[in-house]
Amino acid sequence: CGVFGIYGHPEAANITYLGLHALQHRGQEAAGIVTSDGERLTPHRSMGLVQAGFSPKDLAALRGDRAIGHVRYSTAGGSHIRNAQPFAVDYARGSIAVGHNGNLTNYEALRDRLEARGSIFQSASDTEVIVHLIAASTQASVESRAAEALGQVEGAYSILFLTERELIAVRDPMGFRPLCMGRLTHGEAEAIVVASEPTAFDLIGATYVRDIEPGEMLIVDANGTRSLRPFAPRARKLCIFEHVYFARPDSLIEGASVYEVRKALGRKLAEESPVPGGSDAGDVVVVPVPDSGVPAAVGFAERAGAPFEMGLIRSHYVGRTFIEPQQSIRHFGVRLKLSPNRAALANKRVVIVDDSIVRGTTSRKIVKMVRDAGAREVHLRISSPPTRWPCFYGIDTPTRAELIAATHNLEEICKYVTADSLGYLSLEGLVTSVRTIERRASPDAPASPRSGEASEDGYCSACFSGAYPVPFSPSPKSRHLR
Ligand code: 5GP
Ligand code: SF4
Ligand code: MG
Repeated sequence: CGVFGIYGHPEAANITYLGLHALQHRGQEAAGIVTSDGERLTPHRSMGLVQAGFSPKDLAALRGDRAIGHVRYSTAGGSHIRNAQPFAVDYARGSIAVGHNGNLTNYEALRDRLEARGSIFQSASDTEVIVHLIAASTQASVESRAAEALGQVEGAYSILFLTERELIAVRDPMGFRPLCMGRLTHGEAEAIVVASEPTAFDLIGATYVRDIEPGEMLIVDANGTRSLRPFAPRARKLCIFEHVYFARPDSLIEGASVYEVRKALGRKLAEESPVPGGSDAGDVVVVPVPDSGVPAAVGFAERAGAPFEMGLIRSHYVGRTFIEPQQSIRHFGVRLKLSPNRAALANKRVVIVDDSIVRGTTSRKIVKMVRDAGAREVHLRISSPPTRWPCFYGIDTPTRAELIAATHNLEEICKYVTADSLGYLSLEGLVTSVRTIERRASPDAPASPRSGEASEDGYCSACFSGAYPVPFSPSPKSRHLR
């Protein structure tokens, strides 16, 4: 999911709409905005894309100079308007809206406890427990109630709260999901903006200031901004898959350019898994699977000394296939989305570069497409390690049974996708490449702030390694959490 918030701008709703548009890649199932005029909250939520969800009339009805917004793709709870965010509720102490990116690992235990005490849930989303915990809190201030509520949840959250009078941004103590802040000047005044990725700031003309730190609670109100650190410090566990695939390449995460990281992954991949028979003969081309494979292919071509070619052309009129929840749409999606460019492929030894293999179905179709277009050889290179484990922290990977690398070895996967050779980036290659770019971006910052152990590398890479930094207890009810 993606979140965006703004405090102190007369066009808060319009700017939030634009911010969400820039974060659309983080979720396409539903979009919502809640505004505040200082006295009451006004919500609007809609299924589908941001662009389709808000008419000029809808936006005009969203009054106030502060707002939060959310784009959703479901990791917990089905694709239904009831689960769309931000949630906005009235409770004894006032009104509050919540927009959440991440996944709570102890959601079911908390929900069972709350329901036993009489809470009535309106949605199947894990985020709603936070609202109930806030409503149940007896703390005096809203930030204390939010801190008390979040102190009880575990897992991943980059979260925005909007009350009548304040905007609150919180990143979980391990910092799984990104969250950053910026400033937007308008006339003599200045608005504070927060977003999942700074690419949202570029679109609205705001300046990126810094990332919200893991465990930080940033409060924005009439007195300005202030930060609290209400949680016990933990070792940072930034989701490394944000760098591999999820974030937009023009974003910075903790100061590191996602584009530079992906290029470095491609270079490393070319070193670890070169083209069989070398790339000097002049018949090798490096072809990305657009869009997600492009930066890694640029790096691969650079290191391999072979030309980068657009051998697959992407239609811009379909979205990211994986984000649509239905299998039937996903399968059809490949052909809708990509077509082979024969001029670049015929009689070539083609290296196809992609960021990841999940089920393998897309990759198989692409390899066939490229071969049918006249490629002499097809070598598949993947700029991350085999995806073997589902994510419980906010990325919608399928169950283990559906992950091809969970049940097949390299040779079997290569055979399934019908490639002449298959190479993945090693986990060590991934982590060292990301860390190198991150250190270059902020040389003084340790990769793992407040980390207790020297061995901590600062990243979650559980979907590749199986080393889950926060435990979870799969139960029959947690089917949807997978
Ligand atoms: P596959 O070959 O596994 O069917 O599809 C691989 C493609 O899915 C890659 O191009 C990759 O960009 C995209 N993808 C990346 N992350 C995910 C994810 O979490 N789930 C799914 N289903 N696809 C993803
Ligand atoms: Fe990211 Fe993978 Fe960890 Fe999930 S399991 S948070 S996708 S690195
Ligand atoms: Mg892709």
